Amino acid sequence: MLHAGVIAVQGDVSEHADAIERAAAAHGTEATVSEIRQSGTVPDCDVLLMPGGESTTISRLLHQEGIAAEIERHVAAGKPVLATCAGLIVASRDAKDDRVEPLDLLDVTVDRNAFGRQIDSFEAPIDVDGLDDPFPAVFIRAPLIDDVGPDVEVLAEWDGRPVAVRDGPVVGTSFHPELTDDVRLHRLAFFESTPAELSD
Ligand code: GLN
Repeated sequence: MLHAGVIAVQGDVSEHADAIERAAAAHGTEATVSEIRQSGTVPDCDVLLMPGGESTTISRLLHQEGIAAEIERHVAAGKPVLATCAGLIVASRDAKDDRVEPLDLLDVTVDRNAFGRQIDSFEAPIDVDGLDDPFPAVFIRAPLIDDVGPDVEVLAEWDGRPVAVRDGPVVGTSFHPELTDDVRLHRLAFFESTPAELSD
């Protein structure tokens, strides 16, 4: 049994809760999901999801509720996190916006809404390291990852720019894997599977 925490102070929470349950089932295990709005639950979680939404609001509430420090300890203990879109912005080293106090879980800098300024939302099939077939990536006012630290692995690019990265136990995506039926990115982030298993 896997205990998954979905950061639920704001954003697309239920989609991630469904996705982790489906990813666990695909992996032959079960997940119990806690929606996290207060401190006290993160220390009991095996894995965490940081959803999309509005990064300025999410960042403010995480610090206000004392959840930010718990997430930092979760990562320091080597436990997995999947951070998507606004979650990636909050998990970054620098979001270049005073209204966001990032958690520095991923050694990347991001430009909020960079894709969004060009085009509000779009879907594109992208190749992801470790997956045999392209992943249907849904971008919604997506952040651009513009600086990647030396220990960060770029898992996927779109138009020559990184859109999925891994830094130790933390996987971050500019796009929204929870908005598709495809749970391979949740499996990639949370289960130690070989690429062949992930392509099942
Ligand atoms: N651009 C939004 C932000 O800065 C993120 C958009 C999203 O999560 N879909 O918070």
